[in-house]
Formats: sequence, structure tokens, C-alpha cells
Amino acid sequence: MTPNREDYLKLILELGGDERKVSNKQIVEGLTISGASVSEMISKLVKEGLVNHSPYQGVQLTKLGLEKASTLVRKHRLWEVFLVDHLGYSWNEVHDDAEVLEHVTSEQLEKRLDNYLQKPKFCPHGGMIPSQGKNVHEKDRKTLIDYPVGTTVSIARVLDEKELLDYLVDLGITIHEEFTITDIAAYEGPITLKNDQKKAAISYKAASTIFVDKV
Ligand SMILES: [Zn+2]
Repeated sequence: MTPNREDYLKLILELGGDERKVSNKQIVEGLTISGASVSEMISKLVKEGLVNHSPYQGVQLTKLGLEKASTLVRKHRLWEVFLVDHLGYSWNEVHDDAEVLEHVTSEQLEKRLDNYLQKPKFCPHGGMIPSQGKNVHEKDRKTLIDYPVGTTVSIARVLDEKELLDYLVDLGITIHEEFTITDIAAYEGPITLKNDQKKAAISYKAASTIFVDKV
């Protein structure tokens, strides 16, 4: 599926674009599409006043872009909580359905869903759910590639990307799980994690989208 403008806005937000510039490279990796398509969409978003773009630095959401992205992300994440907590979805299954539902959710439905779920603060991927009308602002965290061997970390948030989540499910890694980094291979090779139950080698690319808290 070709990512649409909403997908871009949401990804830029997930990558911290509410506060700082996100590089085109990060967007290309997050959406697994060509650099040319990213540049084309970014010029559209600039024209619509949704992002600011500076060459060589990347894009940042404008106030309008942030509000738009926050509303979509909030609806998306509320549906994720509903699907996981009430319909038995796993965290790698929720994306497609939440994606469809977010676009048909009125303010009224959003409010009722929020109340029904007792105002959850986080989605199944660790992303924050702001209160209605408030913007998303993720806690500033480092990713798995930023820590040395020997560090014990807890998986705090992962990008809501199907491919990444399938990969983590295959490896048996779940949110809030604690691991010690036991090996970092040279030249952006895999990062090995270990705890009492399991050992897993995570590719450098995936590791760069897994946000962790140092334990
Ligand atoms: Zn999520």
C-alpha cells in the first residue's frame, strides 16, 4: 500500500517531529519507500502548511500538522487498546484495522471510546495517548543502538510498523521486557540481548526504532 499524507504526518510525529527535525532518511526507512516519493510528498505537505522543511536538516511538524497528526494518532491508539484488550488482537495484528478505524471515528465516538477504555495513557506499543484536544509528545528516549554492552534496558516503545512488530514477535520480544545487551556486532551488525528466559539478536536497523529505558 502506498503511504498517504496522514501516514507521513504520523510517522514524523512518532519520530519526534513535534520538537525537532526528522531527516528524510529516517522517513524513507520508516515507510520503506524510495527517497524520491518522500521528497515529493514532503513538498506537498509544505504547500499545505503541515510541515516545515529545511534542506539537509529534514522536516518538522507545524502547529497545524502537529494537531492533525495528534488527533489521528490518538484515535489510532485508542482503537489499538480496544482491539488488544477487548478483542484479543496481538500487538503486531492491530495496525491495519486501527488504521481504517481512525479515519471513520468522530469526536463523539473518540470520546466515548476513551471513557469506555477508562482513559488509557499508552497504546500496546508504548506510544502515549494524550487527552482529547492535546498533542502527542513522546518522552525523549534513546534507542537500543545508543547503549553499550552490559547495559540492562527495558523495552519502552517501538514504532508502530507491521514489519518491525512481526519481526519482534518472531524473536519473542514484548513490551516492558527487560534485557541486558551482551554483544554489539561491528559495522552496524546485530545487537544481542539476553535475559533469564531468552536470547535474541536484533538487526541494527530494527534496534534503531526500539526506544528503551535504562534499568
Ligand atoms: Zn500503537
